[in-house]
Amino acid sequence: MDVLPGISYLFGQLNRALLLPGSHFSLFSLASAFSIGLLVLAVRRYRKGRRIRLRSLLRALFPKRLMLSKSTFADFGYFYFNIFVFGIAFGWAVLSYDAVSRGVGGLLTASFGVMPPAPMPDFVARAIITVLLFLAYELGYWLNHYLSHRIPFLWEFHKVHHSATVLTPLTNFRVHPVYMCIFSNILAVVTGLANGLGDYLLGQSVPQYGLSETNIILVFFIYFYVHLQHTQLWIAFTGWLGHLLMSPAHHQIHHSRNPAHFNKNLGSCLAVWDWMFGTLYVPARDSEKLEFGVEPDREHAHTIRGELIAPFGRAARLLKERLARRAVPVPLAAADRKQAY
Ligand SMILES: [Zn+2]
Ligand SMILES: [Zn+2]
Repeated sequence: MDVLPGISYLFGQLNRALLLPGSHFSLFSLASAFSIGLLVLAVRRYRKGRRIRLRSLLRALFPKRLMLSKSTFADFGYFYFNIFVFGIAFGWAVLSYDAVSRGVGGLLTASFGVMPPAPMPDFVARAIITVLLFLAYELGYWLNHYLSHRIPFLWEFHKVHHSATVLTPLTNFRVHPVYMCIFSNILAVVTGLANGLGDYLLGQSVPQYGLSETNIILVFFIYFYVHLQHTQLWIAFTGWLGHLLMSPAHHQIHHSRNPAHFNKNLGSCLAVWDWMFGTLYVPARDSEKLEFGVEPDREHAHTIRGELIAPFGRAARLLKERLARRAVPVPLAAADRKQAY
């Protein structure tokens, strides 16, 4: 049996995930997050007049309780699954971003005629498309996340991410394949629409600025604080900044078991869409006492059975109940009353 293709596939996937500088989980961005985390802790200790020792900083960043938790082991499982399995199984399901973009461009041209190229240097046009696509990415992320929290059927699949009882950067991977599939398609539609509209208004098709094909603004946030959103390190943007950017504390609030925090802070890097749609919760400057996880004591928590398979059963049951409710005939008198209003 020839195992070489399998081994080269495994290394290829690992290389894509960890070594491409624009990857969402590159070692470079992790090193950046680690350095920022260390710096924040050191400055806090310095201000309190405490001694700064690397050992105690590392212990604060990687507490044993977190590293040895069942939840973290499950996150490792999801990391493996998403890197090595998900890519092959569901790549076909993603709607073509290019097809949506071209479709929008064609529709606008057919409706309003050909747009002459905007009189501006190439780098300005590229900068405009880069900002537009980043905003569209954030909007698509917010929309998918909002639907996942509001529609019970979709929540069953997104709940997997919220079942983490401790947060580490690996929790990023704790997402169900069905969630990822819907997310990828919503993202393709929203960013495709934005690109089609942008190309039409600019009168030309220009590429965004990126690093290994990832939008450069998104890359900046990945290096800056996206990894720190899934940690226990309380870094809170408050005031006007807290209305613009989704700080690590914003996302920790999103994972909180406190009902006051449910369905809040659904954005990725920006807080503006949450602010605009009324789902923003700006965290306090000082750390709030938070507990993470949904039904943490339920059966088969943090196992393949509980996190990967069980959501299908629960979602199917919800769908069945919904269809059964629809099938119940409405009494005639009630139907008349409905029409009268
Ligand atoms: Zn969520
Ligand atoms: Zn999260």
